[in-house]
Amino acid sequence: MIIDIHTHFWRKGYISNAFHMVTAKEWAGKEPGRNPEMILPKIEEGLVDPDGKLFIENMDRAGADVSFIMAGDFGIHWSGEEPAIPLEEQLRSYGELQKRFSGRIYAFAFVDPRRKGAVELFERAIKEWGLKGCGEFTCKDITVADDVSQPLIRKCAELGVPVLVHIRATAGTEEKGDFSAGNIGHPQHLEKALHKYPDLRFIMAHVGYPIWWERAIYLASKYSNCYLDISNWNQDMEDPDGLIPKLACMRDMVGADHICFGTDQSSGKRFCGENSILSQWVRFIKGLPEMAKERGYVFTKEEIDLILGGTAQKLFNL
Ligand SMILES: [Zn+2]
Repeated sequence: MIIDIHTHFWRKGYISNAFHMVTAKEWAGKEPGRNPEMILPKIEEGLVDPDGKLFIENMDRAGADVSFIMAGDFGIHWSGEEPAIPLEEQLRSYGELQKRFSGRIYAFAFVDPRRKGAVELFERAIKEWGLKGCGEFTCKDITVADDVSQPLIRKCAELGVPVLVHIRATAGTEEKGDFSAGNIGHPQHLEKALHKYPDLRFIMAHVGYPIWWERAIYLASKYSNCYLDISNWNQDMEDPDGLIPKLACMRDMVGADHICFGTDQSSGKRFCGENSILSQWVRFIKGLPEMAKERGYVFTKEEIDLILGGTAQKLFNL
């Protein structure tokens, strides 16, 4: 079974314009004569998938059986502006998507802990709409360990649902070059939560890619409630000599039974179909035993089965 534990699914109005504007400015800066206002509508157009058709076709093409959709709250606390479709409506419709593609799509809920009624909304998403966990926990300026986040995390512990946390230098902080614990994507913040909630399962998304991977793996090795999501590491597929030893180290330190396949794949025509990294990443992981052998490492077929889906299957009782 192939399970992609980390994807994103967007419809029109899910992300605020102010959030997209950051990307638009970046793109506009790449070529003279472009302005962000020209680019803004194109960004959303490439991301949206109204009925999920492209998304499912993309899974089929790659042979992926199941995808977990991570919610995002890029509204008022991130971008200073709410999205056209309120977060509550987004979470409710993820529940509907789960029902429509029963057994193929599952979704997580995420609400910025500073939102009024955050815990109540999150609880509704889990109990009423059937969402499966908390994630992607990513905020612009608070971490999973901050006091303000604790009511939400305690609720996850109470409901027994896992929390997927973004652990890599977030766009914006990367450029500033702050790779210390002052960076909100630093693994150290997750360690505090792992320590505080030993019975709550945390999924460490991106395993500190690309700079904190040693720290990330080391701390994950100390906590049996910590699982790895290897999304974003696909960005190093072109460099198997560099990537394979790191994957082998993750397996040695944390165990294949704590590693989950993930892509961070977004919906929409810009990311699905020919442009999708899902198929390539699946092929890469499937080919690991052979590629690793050529480089002096060993991956067994059993380990690959666990990474591609077995671990997640057990984690979510599928
Ligand atoms: Zn992330």
